[in-house]
Amino acid sequence: MTHSYSTDSRQMLGRLRAIMAEDAGGQTRLDQITRLIAEEMHTEVCSIYLFRDEDTLELCATEGLKPESVHETRMRLGEGLVGRVARTGKVINTDDAPSAPGFRYMPETGEEAYSSLLGVPVQRLGEKLGVLVVQSKQARLFSDEEIYAVEVVAMVLAEMAELGAFVGEGAAMSARHQQAVLFRGTSAQEGTAQGRVWLHEPRVVVTNPIAEDPARELERLHEAVEALRVGVDRMLSSAKGGDKDQLDVLEAYRMFANSKGWMRRMEDNIDSGLSAEAAVEKEQSAARARMTQVTDAYLRERLHDLDDLSNRLLRILTGQGTETGAEMPPDPILIARNIGPAELLDYGRALKGIVLEEGSVGSHAAIVARALAIPLVIHAARISNEALNGDQILVDGDQGVVHLRPDESIVTAFRDKMAMQAEAQQRYASIRDKPAETLCGQRIKLKMNAGLMADLPSLKGSGAEGVGLFRTELQFLIRNHMPKRAELSELYARVMDAADDKRVVFRTLDIGSDKVLPYMKATDEPNPAMGWRAIRVGLDKPGVMRMQLQALIRAAKGRALTIMFPFVAQRDEFTAARAEMDKALARERILGHPIPETLEVGAMLETPSLAFAPDSFYSEVDFLSVGGNDLKQFFFAADRENERVRKRYDTLNISFLNFLEGIVFRCATLQTPLSFCGEDAGRPVEAACLAAIGFRTLSMRPASIGPVKSLLRRIDLGALRDVIHTERAKGSQTVRPAVTEYLRDQM
Ligand code: PEP
Ligand code: MG
Repeated sequence: MTHSYSTDSRQMLGRLRAIMAEDAGGQTRLDQITRLIAEEMHTEVCSIYLFRDEDTLELCATEGLKPESVHETRMRLGEGLVGRVARTGKVINTDDAPSAPGFRYMPETGEEAYSSLLGVPVQRLGEKLGVLVVQSKQARLFSDEEIYAVEVVAMVLAEMAELGAFVGEGAAMSARHQQAVLFRGTSAQEGTAQGRVWLHEPRVVVTNPIAEDPARELERLHEAVEALRVGVDRMLSSAKGGDKDQLDVLEAYRMFANSKGWMRRMEDNIDSGLSAEAAVEKEQSAARARMTQVTDAYLRERLHDLDDLSNRLLRILTGQGTETGAEMPPDPILIARNIGPAELLDYGRALKGIVLEEGSVGSHAAIVARALAIPLVIHAARISNEALNGDQILVDGDQGVVHLRPDESIVTAFRDKMAMQAEAQQRYASIRDKPAETLCGQRIKLKMNAGLMADLPSLKGSGAEGVGLFRTELQFLIRNHMPKRAELSELYARVMDAADDKRVVFRTLDIGSDKVLPYMKATDEPNPAMGWRAIRVGLDKPGVMRMQLQALIRAAKGRALTIMFPFVAQRDEFTAARAEMDKALARERILGHPIPETLEVGAMLETPSLAFAPDSFYSEVDFLSVGGNDLKQFFFAADRENERVRKRYDTLNISFLNFLEGIVFRCATLQTPLSFCGEDAGRPVEAACLAAIGFRTLSMRPASIGPVKSLLRRIDLGALRDVIHTERAKGSQTVRPAVTEYLRDQM
């Protein structure tokens, strides 16, 4: 049946604004709003249901249903038509509610007499807050215009609820943002932290959802969109020639920013009485609702882009940049969808923990977090929607778990865990100056991995016997321009100064694979990890390598210098790289710069091919360092960045240990100094096994030195070797269970 009513959303919003301007309590306002909507919609009933908890809705105000059912009638999420609107976030419009699937009769409300029902979700940027319902006795379907009008009011309601403007004490909305929420993500840096939420990009707060002067609002929208377009064009021109993914995203931004449909929908929203901000947000909410339903990963990404763009637009409109004027809470824990390494460095050590919705273990942000020893959890889905600035939060970087607004019992358990960790730290501090000497008298050299200036204080604090791996590419990654030679040489000199007379192994630039320099032309490769990276780039484009080698020689100022080339796969690559070093030395000598008193040039063993290289290679290098992260990924043919396959293969798999033992044997026979510098060196059980099969130098994150040393000092390598041999003889796939049991018995 068609209707014969017209609803002017602008008029309705005008009256709504008058209600909001009055000085009234929350409940009174809700009551007034339901009365107003029922009148404007020419329906007998208008009700507001709000979430009481995660899955319970409560009737909070009504015009037309029995007044005594207010705050009494509750329903579960998905129950009845109202519950269905709440669950699906979709509008229900029916002229025969009692026959509609899922109808639930609630006698206490007296709603049996109503035939038509229009239910509209109340949601703010995809966050479900409740349902706005109108019902009428007359069997009729509501027109698109009416539905739109109710949606617009629901949007304004959502804003008000969020602000707590009319929700009374203990009411559903504020309760929702007080609930404890647990997030299970992935650990990217161990450690625990307790603190307060600090949103990297805080939600923009819209305080004026209703327009006073629509013409002015349209003008504001157009100005803001223009500013947005200019900004996107600027980003695009500065990103030209850069990372392809970034360019794709920016192209999508530009497409959306110029989209007539997007603009028209926002203009329509203003036309219906919303302010420019609320108009953007209404459109953004609709896009977020679509996002949850799209299964295609590419489309979902594009909707994410649109979401980002809407946020930018809102920031332009409200003038709320990342700088919202809010003060960083004590013990800040950063929450973001994702973050770049440079932004993270800006925060520096001020942060107690980091939680990201996206990210990867091998990302640059993760590398920086690790360098700063800040607990990091990634893949915490939707946390930036749930968390509010200042919320209490616990980050368990060991388990990859985050507790937002935790209960007291969780806080207590967490504090116990932190206390135990602090105790362990003290234990490690007490052995800091003692050697990593096993019970059988074997000394293992423990060194640290570094790459940032922020790492240097750890050199003294951790008890490291030098820097076994200095990842020079980090300095290139955190800038948006190619660093200058003088800049680099000054930095390397500071690293050597900080190390005193301890050796620092500088690894030359290892770019490519996941390490893409924003200012270098990206190459589109099907398999970047096995592509044009590290020494391959260095030899093909020797300009940067020469500049870096010069910077290193100058930084040494005559002191001993150690460098290592990454990702060498065959002998001639090393020979060519070493020749570059010799040329650089000759050039520096001619220029009158002091030459290092000793120079050691080594290679990283990261491809299985080097394990089988001719003896002459082993004699040519001054030393070898196993890059276990890459070596393991190529040994098992399992991408180190891909969580799904990475975890399938254990470092303590007997095949891998056999392989590593073969390398140890060759180095021993040919007298090539050998070390191990992948992440596994910093895991105590793995480190113990590496020592048992013959590694005598391990380089790891500074925070791992204490735990590794503590374990090594309590074990007998001969006995551990026997355990490994026994498992090998038995044909076990991995030695982990036996080794873990043995080590547990030694504690
Ligand atoms: C490795 O591959 O083990 C290594 C130390 O190098 P990166 O992790 O920087 O690739
Ligand atoms: Mg590597």
